[in-house]
Amino acid sequence: SSPKASNFLRQIIEADLASGRDAGRRFAGVPGDARQLAAAPLDTARIRTRFPPEPNGYLHIGHAKSICLNFGLAQDYGGVCHLRLDDTNPEKEDEAYVQAIRDAVRWLGFDWVVGGVGHEYFASDYFDFMYRAACALIEAGLAYVDEQSPEDMRRNRGTLTEPGVNSPWRERPAAESLARFEAMRAGKHAEGSMVLRAKIDMAAPNINLRDPAIYRIKFAHHHRTGDRWCIYPMYTYAHPIEDALERITHSICTLEFEDQRPFYDWVLDKLADLGLLARPLPHQHEFARLNLTYVVTSKRKLAQLVNEGHVAGWDDPRLPTIAGLRRRGYTPGSIRLFAERIGVSKSDSWIDYATLEGALRDDLDPQAPRAMAVLDPLKLVITNWDEVMGPGMLDDCQAPVHPHHPEWGLRRFKCGRELWIERGDYAQDPPKGFFRLFPGNRVRLKYGHVIACTGATLDADGQVTEVQAMLVPDTKSGTPGADAVKVKGVITWVAAADAAPAEIRLYDRLFTEAQPDAGGRDFLAALNPNSLRRVQTWVEPGLAALPAGTSVQFERHGYFVADVRDHAPGRLVFNRTTTLRDGRGA
Ligand code: ATP
Ligand code: MG
Ligand code: MG
Repeated sequence: SSPKASNFLRQIIEADLASGRDAGRRFAGVPGDARQLAAAPLDTARIRTRFPPEPNGYLHIGHAKSICLNFGLAQDYGGVCHLRLDDTNPEKEDEAYVQAIRDAVRWLGFDWVVGGVGHEYFASDYFDFMYRAACALIEAGLAYVDEQSPEDMRRNRGTLTEPGVNSPWRERPAAESLARFEAMRAGKHAEGSMVLRAKIDMAAPNINLRDPAIYRIKFAHHHRTGDRWCIYPMYTYAHPIEDALERITHSICTLEFEDQRPFYDWVLDKLADLGLLARPLPHQHEFARLNLTYVVTSKRKLAQLVNEGHVAGWDDPRLPTIAGLRRRGYTPGSIRLFAERIGVSKSDSWIDYATLEGALRDDLDPQAPRAMAVLDPLKLVITNWDEVMGPGMLDDCQAPVHPHHPEWGLRRFKCGRELWIERGDYAQDPPKGFFRLFPGNRVRLKYGHVIACTGATLDADGQVTEVQAMLVPDTKSGTPGADAVKVKGVITWVAAADAAPAEIRLYDRLFTEAQPDAGGRDFLAALNPNSLRRVQTWVEPGLAALPAGTSVQFERHGYFVADVRDHAPGRLVFNRTTTLRDGRGA
């Protein structure tokens, strides 16, 4: 593969490595981690990144960008990337999501087990530490329990142009805050009655520094810590601590966290001053999130599509979830290639869905076996077949499994008197420049003979129900003199006596608008009513034994995959992954 393009994150990392900034950083495992000793040899990791999903939903293509970025940078610079389940928000989290996240990261080709040590961590493992750190901040006069109502707290926060107003609880003695905080933890206070806040500056121009809340009361069951806690740390307080405990060097997040960076640094700096965290401390760097046209990438909106039945589940092939892309036929290599091509930048933009499809074609073209399939079948009868080939005879045909890999061998199939061809390959009244079948014209059956169209049968509505043609003797593809008869058109086909029946699911975009949820619009209004069309049709016989999950190129049509859920020998089901060229539909 080509050398990776540089970007601002690579430049930062290279400068940091050159400066030796992180040389003194030691990682001997996180607090309470039984694997501490085993992890010690990994102290030599030159950089340490993390991918920190919240286990509250399925990962999507945006997360894939972050996975490729964080794991990719660690790989390229002799580092380690941690898989961190950021489970500080108990209500919506679940163990099932944790498993799905692990599967998605591994499927993309990345691993958090390095040198035999599994770098999988849970934010909830640090709850004790976070609590102790909060107590230390209170004792140092850097945090206080605020008992204002949520409305007063919001109002007193000020605005972009107005400074905030100090809480009447701001100057209460540390001992009093500490006692209150302990009572909060003991479950003695109601949700919303008080919060723990960092004491910074209610007049700070950056609103995120106006005494942000760091702990709130929540009587919620946690999927890992059960009912042990009824107070939970805020993400903005928890995240820098998680990074520091894991000795992350480069904490890479999306641009919307840029305004949080001063608080990120405040937490780390204060806790390091208090001797609770070791220097050098992690640095946060922001990059532009992925916005992809014709999809939505918000867990909440994806959940709505699934829960309201607009799609068939989290792995519906129309969804940009990793599970959906996988079922659609996207390969791990295609997604990594896509991530590499879009790069990383500091300014938000939209990436055209065609870029993702282009990466898929480039990944599959050199490796997908070829086959013929008919998507919109129309019967063709070769009226002189019995005369030329012999009554009831079938003719052996062959084609390369892949045009650029002769060593992969040949596929074999039959030609016969009755074939299935594409409805679109016949025209009763051909438009100018149409070189396929129409009465009087000759075309080649790909890998077979030349045929001359003699006519067609139409039903009462003028619909073509059958096409007739005559075989031109001595024109069989691959035989001497086959090219003596010149034709301008070549069509794909399968023999009625030989083809395997299959269901083909023709997927199209889920939304009819490029930015279905831009500007807070109702994205459901932009749902494409024709995003799935199922056809019962015919494919080359060799596909009958194709294992589920295998990708194949149907010649002239595009890339398809044997559906991982529904395809089985004897019941063939293919999903269209993408067409052969840019542009929509088959
Ligand atoms: P959502 O907004 O869909 O709920 P999230 O950002 O809350 O997603 P997390 O589980 O917190 O989801 O995200 C884990 C990581 O993935 C974060 O570091 C986040 O920055 C990154 N990420 C999420 N969405 C995108 C995106 N569209 N582009 C790039 N990175 C993303
Ligand atoms: Mg999140
Ligand atoms: Mg989000």
